[in-house]
Amino acid sequence: MLRDELVAAAEWVCQYLGQLPETPVSRPMPARRRARLRDAPLDRTGGELWQILDFVREEIAPFPTGNGHPAFFAWINSPPAPAGLIAELLASAINATCGMGENALMDLERGTVRTLADLAGLPSTAGGVLTSGGSMANLLALATARTWFLTRRGSADGPAYDRDHARLTLYYNAQAHMSVAKAAACIGIPAHRLRPIPSDTQHRLDPAALRAAVTADQAAGLLPFCTVTTLGTTATGAVDPLEPVTALCRSTGMWHHADGAWGGLGAMVPALAHLYQGVADVDSMTVDPHKTLSVPVGCGALLVTDPEYLHTAFSHRASYLTPGEPDTLPWLSHSTIELTRPGTRALALWATLHHLGGDGVAALLQHYLTLADRLREKITASPRLELVAGGPWPVACFRLTGTTTPDPGALHTRVARRVQTAGRAYLATVTVDDRTVLRACLCNYRTHESDLDLLLREVLQAADSDCAEPPDAPPRDRPSATAGHPVQSDDAVRTE
Ligand SMILES: *Cc1c(COP(=O)(O)O)cnc(C)c1O
Repeated sequence: MLRDELVAAAEWVCQYLGQLPETPVSRPMPARRRARLRDAPLDRTGGELWQILDFVREEIAPFPTGNGHPAFFAWINSPPAPAGLIAELLASAINATCGMGENALMDLERGTVRTLADLAGLPSTAGGVLTSGGSMANLLALATARTWFLTRRGSADGPAYDRDHARLTLYYNAQAHMSVAKAAACIGIPAHRLRPIPSDTQHRLDPAALRAAVTADQAAGLLPFCTVTTLGTTATGAVDPLEPVTALCRSTGMWHHADGAWGGLGAMVPALAHLYQGVADVDSMTVDPHKTLSVPVGCGALLVTDPEYLHTAFSHRASYLTPGEPDTLPWLSHSTIELTRPGTRALALWATLHHLGGDGVAALLQHYLTLADRLREKITASPRLELVAGGPWPVACFRLTGTTTPDPGALHTRVARRVQTAGRAYLATVTVDDRTVLRACLCNYRTHESDLDLLLREVLQAADSDCAEPPDAPPRDRPSATAGHPVQSDDAVRTE
């Protein structure tokens, strides 16, 4: 019976989330169990609904990336917002597609996208679509920018298209997320027409270097069509200058896309508002509610100041798909690549935003920024650590000082791995100014100051162990990577 299994699943979810802080952040997954998940054949006869919960409890839940845990600092992956969890279940029950036809969830998506645009500081004309994440939003943005640019030149099709398309060039901060270059490749802009612009000492896009590159390309007969700024670079949390880039885009006929997957809502935070001056004038913006807002994974957004340009890029018609009434709004499939689209994103985002309220969203962002300030202070205060970069978005890039190793990059990689395998905290490494250093970012609403202390203790302890056992020691001389985990025997892993 569906009811019993649903109730059992709900009870398990509460128990799972409740106990997460007491479990290891992550744990190595025995190779045999991984192989079993990859190779399991499908039985000819079906199973029972309750078996799904057992399977998740035993095979899946014990081996997370770690991003539900308050001591997970590695990537911008958050734990799920409770409102989002409930909403995803309910939206799955309704199972509406937000691509075509008219249904309440599609109007809710339109409204929620508008709310997000308001929070981001975009003008009241702005619209857009929800996406699977920031990468997809950046792809839609570049496709829209390209169509806008070629349409204005009268070369949206025909031989003129081929001629102009082969000259399109794209500009972005060299610190931009790799999804920008990937999106460019997808729309047919080859690597030799991508212009990663060197950043300044704060890892922000340098407008003078951008202008020089655009001018040189124009003189060479190329067609600069779009500049992407980043609001919160993934490595160090930098915010690119908006106004000079918009001014250059206006004077040279380029589209200005702001990748705010992480920091798109910064205009809401009083301490950051000055960096977001001019945000209302960008042409489009990526925001990733599954990062800062903890909407369950699979929720990004592309916001476009004039949504008509999105329609120009994506409204392909088909005789079997015709909106009914003459006054119906454009279907959301006319603003994106997807046709059958989930309603879970819209309801989960709506529920999360309405659970928090506008003030709650600002307070949540401020909470991350305050914790990151504390972390950077603690690093600066430690005689054994040095802050390398970080901010204004909540991240700290730091390194060990006073080590004698000839290869500090390898040391930091080993230290991060030791922290990860010890299972009490989790951080990653990043390359900043050609050096591999440690990186910790904050995007978990359950993280407290005590978790920051725990992280730094773990880092220093891992560095001490690395010193005590040089990396070329035979592996059997080292303690087990799973020391401290009582639950490692292959079939004994349980979350309860
Ligand atoms: C995370 C991130 C992306 C990619 O978003 P996904 O949701 O992971 O696809 C793009 N840009 C920036 C700046 C990011 O931080």
